[in-house]
Amino acid sequence: MRFLILLALACFASPVAGQTEAEDLRSAERALLERAIELPTVAGRTEDFRKLTKLLSEELRKAGISQITIKDHDGTQTLIARWSAPRPSGKKPILFMAHMDVVEADAADWKHPPFELREEDGYYLGRGTADNKGQLIGLVLALQELHRQGFQPSRDIILLITGDEETTGNGARRATTEWRDLVDAEYAINFDAGGGSVLSDGTVEAFIMQLAEKTVADFRLTALNRGGHSSSPRPDNAIYALAGALKAIEAHRFTPMLNDATRAQFQLFADRDKGRLGELIKAWLNDPTNRERADLVEANLIGYTRTRCVATMISGGHAPNALAQKAEANVNCRIFPGMKTEEVRLQLQALAGPDVNVSLVEGSATPDSDPSPLRGDLMQAYMEALRTRFPDAVVTPFMSSYATDGAFVRNAGIPVYGISGDWGIVGKPTGSHGLDERMLVDAFHGQVPILVELIRRLAI
Ligand SMILES: [Zn+2]
Repeated sequence: MRFLILLALACFASPVAGQTEAEDLRSAERALLERAIELPTVAGRTEDFRKLTKLLSEELRKAGISQITIKDHDGTQTLIARWSAPRPSGKKPILFMAHMDVVEADAADWKHPPFELREEDGYYLGRGTADNKGQLIGLVLALQELHRQGFQPSRDIILLITGDEETTGNGARRATTEWRDLVDAEYAINFDAGGGSVLSDGTVEAFIMQLAEKTVADFRLTALNRGGHSSSPRPDNAIYALAGALKAIEAHRFTPMLNDATRAQFQLFADRDKGRLGELIKAWLNDPTNRERADLVEANLIGYTRTRCVATMISGGHAPNALAQKAEANVNCRIFPGMKTEEVRLQLQALAGPDVNVSLVEGSATPDSDPSPLRGDLMQAYMEALRTRFPDAVVTPFMSSYATDGAFVRNAGIPVYGISGDWGIVGKPTGSHGLDERMLVDAFHGQVPILVELIRRLAI
């Protein structure tokens, strides 16, 4: 009888103990995210970057990573750390990337203060939860867990954590040039891209691996004129010349392009969509030279079939009763990988005509970056890691229409793969760069075991 009672006690006792342990872990994970969110690492707030690199360094030391270099540069900081393989296999290191900086958030527009972590309706709210502190902290927690489990990588793992991804990209640019010896690697995993979309019933729509990203460039269109009195207009006119150039750019369609990533994206979309758009995409993929179909696909899935440019700012003239001496516009372009920035400028110049000068806005362009080659081993490792949580997970290659630090690293000859262990719910925006930014509580904690499995598979 006593024996039975003991057994019964044991049955009750063990789940309670297990639950407490899980709860402790959860609150420790949450506490670290909270500390990171509370530091408003917005461009220009150098002191907050210093506090965050200090916090990250302490946490990395807990993961047994003590080779940490902090670069103080351009009003921000970049943290580079190395987990050296105790018995190196001879394989080149893997570079892990994430960023500390966040986009400015105006507290007056938010429901709650942006730099305080809040939990609401199954989400963690706060600036940086979705981009990129949630994933950065997830990575640190995964490294700590691997250390706790006694994992020993067979190749070096390098971390590149930048502090200006959202603005200048100086950290990534310097890392791949001035500090190249610290970050040189066979390939990079960028935790600022990738991730999954899951339906509200828990079925996976898709997880994406970002292989390519569009690059960004701003072009200035300038029309100059000798001006004069508005009572005697002439055919030459700066404002009309600029307007004509902008209308020509509006009507222009760049040549459609495809790469491994976009082909897989379109294929997945066509397979899932049983309607007319799916049919249209299939027909276009069968004959990518068909411009008419490409234009229709682009109208529905904007930004994925080619380079796109759009006028975003305009100014000109100096008085209501004078002919303008100057009219200017800014045209923002998202350039398809494989197309050079200068090629885009030449096309815009041809469209603008001789009376309007088209020049690249200095410092606006992210570097040209070719898509990274598809790697079966990475796709497999990512999928296996995801399946520890989502048995039906599928991974599809992806090209993003926005740019990240990955562009600098690809440009330097290191292939980059955007992977993330977290996910969102289809149709529920995360507010990244916008209002009331959020990350699923389940995804924040759930990414850690996925990343542990992923890193184990990549670095064993
Ligand atoms: Zn980001």
